[in-house]
Amino acid sequence: MSKIFEEIYEYVQGIEIIDTHEHLPAFEDIRDKNTDILKEYLTHYFNCDLISAGLSASDFARVINPDLPVVERWDIVEPYWNVSRHTGYARALDISVKGLYGLDRICRETIEELNGKFLDSLKPGHFKKVLKDRSKIRVSLLHDIPKENEKIVFDSNLKCDQTFFRNVYPIDGLIFPQTGDEIMRIEEQAGFRVCGFGDYLEAAESLLDNALKHGAVALKSALAYQRPLLYERFTMSEAEHEFNELFKYKHMGNYLPQVFPLGKKFQDCMMHFILRLAGKRNLTVQFHTGIQEGNGNMLKNSDPALLSNLFLEYPDVDFDIFHMGYPFQDVVSVLAKNFPNVFIDMAWAHIVSPSASVQALAGWIDSVPVNKISAFGGDYLFIDGVYGHQALAREHVSRALSMKVDEGLMDVERANEISEMLFYKNPYRIFKLEKSL
Ligand SMILES: [Zn+2]
Repeated sequence: MSKIFEEIYEYVQGIEIIDTHEHLPAFEDIRDKNTDILKEYLTHYFNCDLISAGLSASDFARVINPDLPVVERWDIVEPYWNVSRHTGYARALDISVKGLYGLDRICRETIEELNGKFLDSLKPGHFKKVLKDRSKIRVSLLHDIPKENEKIVFDSNLKCDQTFFRNVYPIDGLIFPQTGDEIMRIEEQAGFRVCGFGDYLEAAESLLDNALKHGAVALKSALAYQRPLLYERFTMSEAEHEFNELFKYKHMGNYLPQVFPLGKKFQDCMMHFILRLAGKRNLTVQFHTGIQEGNGNMLKNSDPALLSNLFLEYPDVDFDIFHMGYPFQDVVSVLAKNFPNVFIDMAWAHIVSPSASVQALAGWIDSVPVNKISAFGGDYLFIDGVYGHQALAREHVSRALSMKVDEGLMDVERANEISEMLFYKNPYRIFKLEKSL
């Protein structure tokens, strides 16, 4: 490792971080306690690498069953773990166990001892240890994903532990409601009946304002999991026509599944409606783009270039483009270069592809103003992953910047200054956190 890298890396390790994106439990005491290291660490991400490598669904179900002995489950997963061990997801977990529990990596020799130490960490205080003491995270923007059977998607009174988090309000439930239950929850939240499209728009506005009143600092959309990111212009009457389809199902009893995805015209109109509200309130909206978590989806739905008309039509909305658009990071480069209201967010990126993260950042420095990039969003559902991810992010940012110093583009002092913008000053400004921190 070069001396320049070492110098920058040392500085970067001391920087406080604004973490743009997490899905952690909103309070430490609601952590899942019926768990162990394999169940928790395979909640998401790395389990997808294992399944991609050939682990069957039935074997995976056994691997995450905490009632079976941990070594027996390790034996099932080991061949798949070993071939996936070099991915960013696996690296983050190995870094986490080393940094948090002092054991070199997750393997047959360590799994039992690790599990014991992990179970000890379920005691209160672990969130502070990971987020504050070890990861130096000032605050994480939280997208609270409701657990199964806990339908709080539309809850705009979302609460979270303000020591660690500020909430982000997910708008997708208002744009893409899919069941009768969901519409009823919107009614409940708004406090009045939705008897027509006008009522629905009023309810959407009041839910959004309620979320802001309860401390939400930004909005978020992840609809690239479900549909293309192209939101076209339709008339309100076209949207209303589709909305009225809902009432055809009103007579069906609760015991029947009331599933009725609303049409594209309705969804597109609602996105435009919400962005108009966001513009008037000078809000930042986080958009999922690029790779979709899981084992298969329609990648082209998530191309960030599809959002271009929204960038043009809503100049008062700041668009925070998630996951560096991977694998569309060059597209994101052009978007952030051209549009004053488009920002690059590396949430999730450092574990999706370590090498692409370093290369992309080095490339953006050549083409995009450095005040438009946020370097870190952990994007984890479980706490330990955040530590490994931020360690990788600090390393990758140091690598990209040391490349620029090696090229003679800047000195180490300037590289350090930029690293502080990427990890702290930029997200602080992009999310207007001076109002809430
Ligand atoms: Zn996420």
